[in-house]
Amino acid sequence: MSEMTVKQLAEVVGIPAERLLSQLGEAGISIDAADASISEVEKKQLLAYLRRSHGKKDEGVAEIPRKITLKRKTVSELRQPVSPGRPTSRAPMPGRGKTVSVEVRRKRTYIKRSAVPDDKEKLEAAEAARKALAEQAQQQKLVEAEVEARKLAEEAKRREEEEAHRAAEEAKRKAEEEERLKKEQEEQARLAAEQEQAAILSAEAQPAAAKKPARKKDKEHVAEREKDTRYARKELHVSVEKRGKRKKKPAKQPAAMPMKSEHAFVKPTEPVVHRVGIPDTITVAELAQKMSVKAAEVIKELMKLGTMVTINQVLDRDTAFLVVEELGHQAYALEKEDAETVLESMEEAEGEKEPRAPVVTIMGHVDHGKTSLLDHIRVSQVAEGEAGGITQHIGAYHVRTDKGVITFLDTPGHAAFSAMRARGAKLTDIVVLVVAADDGVKPQTIEAIQHAKAAEVPLVVAVNKIDKPEAQSERVMQELVQQEVIPEEWGGDTMFVEVSAKTGQGIDKLLDTILLQAEVLELEAVKDGLARGGVVESSLDKGRGPVATVLVQAGTLKRGDVIVSGSEYGRVRAMFDEKGMQVAEAGPSIPVEVLGLSGAPFAGDDMIVVADEKKAREVALLRQERQRVSKLSAQKAAKLDEVFSRMSEGEVQNVNLIIKADVQGSVEALRDALT
Ligand code: GDP
Ligand code: MG
Repeated sequence: MSEMTVKQLAEVVGIPAERLLSQLGEAGISIDAADASISEVEKKQLLAYLRRSHGKKDEGVAEIPRKITLKRKTVSELRQPVSPGRPTSRAPMPGRGKTVSVEVRRKRTYIKRSAVPDDKEKLEAAEAARKALAEQAQQQKLVEAEVEARKLAEEAKRREEEEAHRAAEEAKRKAEEEERLKKEQEEQARLAAEQEQAAILSAEAQPAAAKKPARKKDKEHVAEREKDTRYARKELHVSVEKRGKRKKKPAKQPAAMPMKSEHAFVKPTEPVVHRVGIPDTITVAELAQKMSVKAAEVIKELMKLGTMVTINQVLDRDTAFLVVEELGHQAYALEKEDAETVLESMEEAEGEKEPRAPVVTIMGHVDHGKTSLLDHIRVSQVAEGEAGGITQHIGAYHVRTDKGVITFLDTPGHAAFSAMRARGAKLTDIVVLVVAADDGVKPQTIEAIQHAKAAEVPLVVAVNKIDKPEAQSERVMQELVQQEVIPEEWGGDTMFVEVSAKTGQGIDKLLDTILLQAEVLELEAVKDGLARGGVVESSLDKGRGPVATVLVQAGTLKRGDVIVSGSEYGRVRAMFDEKGMQVAEAGPSIPVEVLGLSGAPFAGDDMIVVADEKKAREVALLRQERQRVSKLSAQKAAKLDEVFSRMSEGEVQNVNLIIKADVQGSVEALRDALT
């Protein structure tokens, strides 16, 4: 406040100016005009005088305080450098560093000594305490400020680091973005050029009026655009609006592109659909690999479909198709790449064909002398001069005569023969039909004739037991004619030989006749190359494991060859001929016992040598799977049949039979006979 006049003061105080003037005079202040100005010092003098003269009470003027409290507030700024960890020489960047305001408040109270003259010590102590307190408070405040500052500094540091990290990332992203944009633009430039070209072409082809603005709609919608131009390429990675924006830009200004802070990678919006080629068979692992999924996923899917599989299990094509489609991929059949077709293609072994020995099966009614006849041939031809002879059972053997080799198959019965035939194995070239001269044509004779005819195998009739006095070979011939088996002498094509297994009469002639018949058939086969053949019989030997008697039909089977036989496979560990002698190899029409298969195949199963053991295993596994499936379905059908028959016929007696036999062929024959 500036100087004021006495009059003004009087107005403020609320008393007449004259009175104030007189008071001033009383106070000894030499102001005598109302217009004269009154200084601050003079005012205080007046005030002091008034106090003295009136005691406390005076109008308009406050009492002089016993104590005075002074408050002081200082505000300072604490500046944080950019990073406290770094050298402080670096100037803080504007907006980067942190500024902390520190406010220090001080409060000091003065107490008028005169107010408490008698209590000086007390007063001093109180004063000291107050001071201490004030100092403490100040310190406290400072500490708080410091803590706060440190916190802020830490925060700033963390943010700083984050920012640096983000900046680096951003730089990287920008680089990527730029790279991608560049590519996009190149692509677009190319597209544009193509479109222009197309437009020009279409303009040339059509009237000018039909000309469309080539890229009018481009910016609006990608889908639209894709409809418009067939040059467009579908890109999953580019979001629609991004693409649209870019389209607006001129093609050659990569620097002008807006920098996106988004990630360059955009999650594919659709699942990837694979086109999966399925061969005839495929393992679970292979299938999974083709779909780029884990095998466990395929197994899981198959479980859903109700099949428990292992990773190495072979699936057929239908199953594989199902799985592929369940997993959202596309399946198509791969042609002719499967293991079976590989085997089939090997059927045509190349090379020069050579004549081979005929393979003969002896058939006929029971007790007509089949076994006797075979034994006689074997003993007289095979075992001749061999010490010990044949001690072990072998389902096939070959005999050497002066005119050539004949291989005999010792089939346990007609059923086995037909079972073999049912499997497509045509092992036999000639059937020798044994008819007892004293018994004539019987049911099984007729059956044998039918089998031979069905298999399109020529017959040679051996009229046996000719040594017997009651033998009537003429009658046998007549009965056979009724079965359309006509002797050559009577104008037919069937050769008849009268023999006696007992005396050996006519046996040489029988062998000659067989060879003659073989000559007519012109039997030949390729001798070199990988062997193919069929299983005559097989068994599980305690000591040797699975043993299969195999007849080689073409090529040469060697020790160490990898073979597939039915649903079994393996490497030929050892081979034996009918005399139990080890042989190293077996050519066409030669039967051998083979060791080394994974299991016992069935009589009539094929036998193929393959170059690749993996392939062999694959084929075998596939066949096992098929077998299992067909067996299961057969069981199911049987159960259903059972249920229905029980429903219709009431109680049915069940007899469980276990068929035991020395060789597989026998088991089948027995089983078929029983049913
Ligand atoms: P399979 O059932 O056809 O095998 O006939 P077998 O070979 O077992 O013979 C049945 C029976 O006929 C046996 O007792 C033989 O001894 C007998 N037998 C077989 N061939 C002849 C033969 O040529 N002459 C005579 N007299 N008996 C024979
Ligand atoms: Mg017999």
